[in-house]
Amino acid sequence: MPSGNVEVAVIGGGAAGIGAARRLREAGLKALILEARGRLGGRAWTIQAGGFPIDLGCGWLHSAKRNPWTKIAEAQGRTIDRTPPPWARATSQPGLTAAESAEMRAALWALHDRADALPDEEPDRSLADLLEPGGRWNALIDAISGYYSGAELARISARDLGRYADDGVNWRVVEGYGEAIAEHGAGLDVAFDSAVTRIDHGGRRIRIETARGMVEADAAIVTLPSALIAADETLFAPALPDKTRAAAGLPLGHDDKLFLSLSGAEAFEPEARAFGDPRRVATASYQLRPFGRPMIECYFGGALAAELERGSEGAFFDFARSELVGLYGGDFARRVAPLALHGWSGDPFARGAYSYALPGHADDRATLAAPVDGRVFFAGEACSREDFSTAHGAYLTGIAAAEQAIEALRR
Ligand SMILES: Cc1cc2nc3c(=O)[nH]c(=O)nc-3n(C[C@H](O)[C@H](O)[C@H](O)COP(=O)(O)OP(=O)(O)OC[C@H]3O[C@@H](n4cnc5c(N)ncnc54)[C@H](O)[C@@H]3O)c2cc1C
Repeated sequence: MPSGNVEVAVIGGGAAGIGAARRLREAGLKALILEARGRLGGRAWTIQAGGFPIDLGCGWLHSAKRNPWTKIAEAQGRTIDRTPPPWARATSQPGLTAAESAEMRAALWALHDRADALPDEEPDRSLADLLEPGGRWNALIDAISGYYSGAELARISARDLGRYADDGVNWRVVEGYGEAIAEHGAGLDVAFDSAVTRIDHGGRRIRIETARGMVEADAAIVTLPSALIAADETLFAPALPDKTRAAAGLPLGHDDKLFLSLSGAEAFEPEARAFGDPRRVATASYQLRPFGRPMIECYFGGALAAELERGSEGAFFDFARSELVGLYGGDFARRVAPLALHGWSGDPFARGAYSYALPGHADDRATLAAPVDGRVFFAGEACSREDFSTAHGAYLTGIAAAEQAIEALRR
């Protein structure tokens, strides 16, 4: 433990915690990140596999032109790939004509437009309520909700999704988004392997119990994933039932990536994308040759991802291989082999991928983000009104919480 006595304890060293701790240090405050894992980045995580850096968590710089990580990664000397993402281009889908693919995309955007247009004075609805009844593409749109939000449409607040701000520009960091985020934390004071079990804010100083001992602080910034806050009513002493309830309204969806090596990759167009079965909800999305590399990024969302995580060790690979054989023929089975996979829902320090709001719970984001007694502050992607579920949203909430802490400690 670098020091058991600090001005601000930052609980969690993901995008939000790193952003907060850097801002606090710039302001001359003594901040310590308490991180459960042995690395920084949290749900931002680049590993090396098949000779390439791959992102098991965030990969896309969403809203890339205004995304602060774009500038940070560039300042680190990294390469920004500006190839438009597969979902923003017309890509060929086996089994569908170009006209059918265009019709599906139009139905998807129409659903998002209906969510954007939901009047403030009307009660919230689920996105499923806004589907065109009996619509031809409803199953696939539900599958896409699994990739986008981590859950099926019936679980998603239309108001919350309508608030999401997207500038429509999506870029990538060639060396890895997770790598850029973790490097931004280099040189900060961090206590690794220090899972926080209790935040006692009843006394004059805040006392934080960790797996490696007690830390005392004047203020704390809590950046834990909402699923973890919701799951532990005893995390705060005295208890903060408003926070537990708000976090429960913002569950983390299920999303996992499996990377496969692909032999004879040149036969495929780089950055192509195919759905395993465009007529099913329980189907994965396959990005062939990301960055032109000889691999496939398989994306699993919603109930399918949750079910596969509960299955046997090879469940994701077996599922992907059988869908790919269905798309590209029997000999495809011999062309792919597993490279890397991470099950985020089973990860004890995440318990899911990214937050969505249950119908009626869009305002829980503001409740979760609100400071307590001017010294316990909250950040993390689930606290963002408009950039939730993203690494830049997490970062911006971290900066905002740090500003609140700086102001409170200077008073
Ligand atoms: C598969 C997948 C794909 C994604 N794709 C994208 C994408 O393309 N673009 C995008 O912008 N975002 C994407 N995201 C979401 C993005 O990764 C997250 O929104 C963002 O990284 C969250 O940052 P955070 O700081 O809020 O939370 P986290 O990164 O989860 O940080 C919280 C930290 O708290 C730590 N912690 C947990 N429990 C404790 C404890 N008890 N004590 C101390 N520390 C603890 C964790 O280890 C973690 O480091 C994706 C996520 C996943 C899983």
